[in-house]
Amino acid sequence: MLNQVTDTPISTPVNTASFRDRIATVDVSGKRKWVFAKKPKGRLYSIRTVVSWAFFALFFSLPFIYVNGRPLFLFNVTQARFILFGKVFWPQDFFIFGLTMVTFIVFVILFTAAFGRLFCGWVCPQTIFMEMFFRKIEYLVEGDAAQQKALAAAPWTARKLLVKTTKHLVFFLSAFVIANFFLAYIIGVKDLYTIITGPVSEHISGLLSLAVFSGVFYAVYAFFREQACTVVCPYGRLQGVLLDRNSMIVAYNYKRGEPRGKINRKEENTKGDCIDCAQCVRVCPTGIDIRNGTQMECIGCTACIDACNAVMKKIDRPPGLVGYASENGIQNGERLQYTGRMKLYTVLLGLLLTILGFMLFTRKEIDTTIMRTPGMLFQERGADSISNLYNIKVANKTTHSIPLQLRLEGMSGSIEIIGSTNAIDVKDQGQGSGSFFVVLPKGLIHDRKTQLKIGLYDNNKRVDIIKTNFLGPVSDAGFSRNTK
Ligand code: SF4
Ligand code: SF4
Repeated sequence: MLNQVTDTPISTPVNTASFRDRIATVDVSGKRKWVFAKKPKGRLYSIRTVVSWAFFALFFSLPFIYVNGRPLFLFNVTQARFILFGKVFWPQDFFIFGLTMVTFIVFVILFTAAFGRLFCGWVCPQTIFMEMFFRKIEYLVEGDAAQQKALAAAPWTARKLLVKTTKHLVFFLSAFVIANFFLAYIIGVKDLYTIITGPVSEHISGLLSLAVFSGVFYAVYAFFREQACTVVCPYGRLQGVLLDRNSMIVAYNYKRGEPRGKINRKEENTKGDCIDCAQCVRVCPTGIDIRNGTQMECIGCTACIDACNAVMKKIDRPPGLVGYASENGIQNGERLQYTGRMKLYTVLLGLLLTILGFMLFTRKEIDTTIMRTPGMLFQERGADSISNLYNIKVANKTTHSIPLQLRLEGMSGSIEIIGSTNAIDVKDQGQGSGSFFVVLPKGLIHDRKTQLKIGLYDNNKRVDIIKTNFLGPVSDAGFSRNTK
């Protein structure tokens, strides 16, 4: 038998390797095998419950937290506007956003190489909502795994109809509430309130989104369930390349457990510590047997650790037959190590975080692009001046509207904004654009290109300086007559 991750022989004389032929939730004919996971009980499950409370508190409160009039977090994919920790990110910040994503991916790789699927088991929203919310509702309404199995096999009676309807009703209502909060993360809680309280005819798309999200969440938690982790999630499928022999995973200590078998108290025990009670399998929400080695379907939920520890206590053996360990740890008795690969990832991560921090720190609240109007060279203004036409685009990332004034820095001359007296108005968290002439006295133009500095002012406070070029008609013979 080979370890699925390391392809090294594992001396576990467990089942035949037929479990690798298909995922645990599909039978020979390709049909779905429903997982009736037994309710976990134990120290780790209690800690995970507390972690899930913290998660729910955050998930349901973050949309209400505003900083300087902006949500703390907003992920408006449709308008390409994102707010992280109260800072607005526009498409112009794509570079920062891209770098944040790269940093996040490097972090995930590093974290996974060191700690396996700790994220999946402890903080992944899918696992938390499935195991700590919807499954708990299921235990409450239908009972533990044995009752659920019996109910599923039973004919349709009034009681079964009542129990099933109650469960699915609660599931759908919960999915609807989650969908509302999910939408609040996209459009903000204020806009969500407007959609909910406003006339239906004016918010068709918003209400439709709510209906779609509710339907998707309901379908995932009521029917699709663990398949989201074992079939869809790309992170789960990447485990095979991210984990190595030193990664910390939930593992069965085959050295200690094998050969497995029931204990006969009257005979001398020549077997390992595993009494083949299958408690670790019964609690597994993805339906796998952890004794088969590291498997892609294992979400690291620790339910099997608690189950096995309870068994070990009963048979008077030390806990940890199933626990957090590395492949090397089990095979060679080595401690968890900080490997060369992890060191390399750490250096890379440090570098990316430094660049990201610098970019965030020096990021401007008003993002401006000034370009000379294409196809235009220069215009003569009377006998003593030359003008160039420019286009300006402004992204205002602040929470107040700005009448943006333009001034030439360090030289005489003037700026004439087309269609406005003296400013370009840009709404808060909006974008503005316009055109303007820069008019310079001929006496200042000595080269074909003259570098200009244009100061941007918000209520007489300079917020930025933009450098650009001014084209002039200079030749050895003086000014040309061109006014293209
Ligand atoms: S719970 Fe422990 S003792 Fe029981 S089958 Fe699983 S590994 Fe073996
Ligand atoms: S094998 Fe254990 S840790 Fe992995 S998913 Fe199953 S119960 Fe959770």
